[in-house]
Amino acid sequence: MSESRTTVAGVAVATGHHIAGDWVDSTATFEDRSPLDWDVVLARVSRGGPAEATRAVDAALAAFPAWSALGAEGRAPYLRRLADLIDRDVARLAAVECLDMAMLEDSLRERVIARGARNFRAYADLALGYQPRRWDSQGTHNTVLRMPAGPTVVITPWNAPFMLATWKCAPALAAGNTVVLKPAEWSPLSAALLMDLADEAGLPPGVLNLVQGYGDEAGAALVGDVRVRRISFTGSPETGRAIGRVAADHLVPFTAELGGKGPLIVLDDADLDAAARSAVRMYDDAGQVCLAGTRLLVQESVRDAFVERVRASAAALVPGDSRLPTTTLSPLIHPEHLARVEGFVARAREAGDRVVFGGARWRPDGLWYEPTLIEPHANDAEIVQREVFGPVLTLQSFADDAEAVALGNSTPYGLSAIVYTSSRERADALGAALRAGTIWVNTFLVRDLTAPFGGVGISGLGREGGDYALDFYSDLKTYQVREGSTHG
Ligand code: NAD
Repeated sequence: MSESRTTVAGVAVATGHHIAGDWVDSTATFEDRSPLDWDVVLARVSRGGPAEATRAVDAALAAFPAWSALGAEGRAPYLRRLADLIDRDVARLAAVECLDMAMLEDSLRERVIARGARNFRAYADLALGYQPRRWDSQGTHNTVLRMPAGPTVVITPWNAPFMLATWKCAPALAAGNTVVLKPAEWSPLSAALLMDLADEAGLPPGVLNLVQGYGDEAGAALVGDVRVRRISFTGSPETGRAIGRVAADHLVPFTAELGGKGPLIVLDDADLDAAARSAVRMYDDAGQVCLAGTRLLVQESVRDAFVERVRASAAALVPGDSRLPTTTLSPLIHPEHLARVEGFVARAREAGDRVVFGGARWRPDGLWYEPTLIEPHANDAEIVQREVFGPVLTLQSFADDAEAVALGNSTPYGLSAIVYTSSRERADALGAALRAGTIWVNTFLVRDLTAPFGGVGISGLGREGGDYALDFYSDLKTYQVREGSTHG
């Protein structure tokens, strides 16, 4: 056992893997830099591969019988203690995550990290509150029971690392599974802090493990271990497909929460100020939000009035250091990702799309990109059809509700859709016709943890959230007893 730590935002963060309750370093490392200042190397993190992945799955497998046998009652106190510790440490978690991936520190503290604690509490309660379906049929008493599925691999992206790790680990653990978490290599640090808190909460060794490293090394090795019984992935459709192929070979159920290209539809009877405020929120986290409504679809008669509002609010955004409360626009995560966003905009210009505003880096140094709005030359333009994952929105108009639906449903994605209207009737008609996993009317990002969450089309496969997640992390069995054949 060896344990290396580095200090980030005044917090000592472990840079190794966490396996069977011990910190384990690899000789090979990778550099983790801060998007706030790319010259700063925050940490040299252990670069795991097949050996570490195998050890971590060994540990998860060894811990599984005792953890699964505890039952929901036995597991709940651990998860609640972990939730309390996350609440206690919100400020330090937010400070580290802010340096690591540059989301605004205020929103991390007030919203995103706190949601991690809620995830653990909510799933402890939901697992305890499970009401098995019971019914009588053909002379038998029937019950649907949940069996913990086994070692589970959780793979997360870089854009909301702590929240997404807890969103998946909480139901997996509550369902009685043991977990190996592999966070994204661009924002690996908060996962290490989660392991410290899990130790402090007294989680038995091997119940929650961490392997750091690259996707095609550590991630692929974990997914490729035949002993793994569930895979939960959030990331890009390309990686989702690659993992899906392995899951199919091993006949392992997996969920994939993938990218988005949601429409934000503004009808002519909408509160335009509210709709424009919502549109400008799509620049939050530099647009690196899968659920964002990045395609603005506006009814022709209100188009100009709406665009002027969006332009004015976007112009008031303040790029800067995400740690400062005055900053409202954060940088992109990585120079490679900035180049990718720049590539999208350059190709849009070449294709004849019109840049309404923005379309450049905020300044030559640093990873900030201007809030950008692009009017495409056609609906099949790349900028409309592919996820940019940056502060780049598109603007299209429509004549009537039928055309709004047709445009709304015209990409291969289907994660979310947002509608602004003052008519419940029109809202319900659009709500029924739009193909997406989540539809918001006159609001955005309101999430109830018991609701199903996932995507349609290339936005994902399967559903997490509430009982849907607990069912996914369990094997359901039908238990039948012949009526009158037993006492008690
Ligand atoms: P990515 O697919 O490149 O990487 C995601 C994770 O997969 C990382 O941890 C990476 O190391 C790992 N990985 C890569 N190749 C792998 C392989 N062969 N086997 C196993 N693991 C592998 O995605 P990203 O760039 O980190 O994240 C951005 C994407 O995530 C965007 O498309 C975004 O929309 C999506 N996302 C979706 C949701 C959602 O809930 N639907 C939420 C957040 C982000």
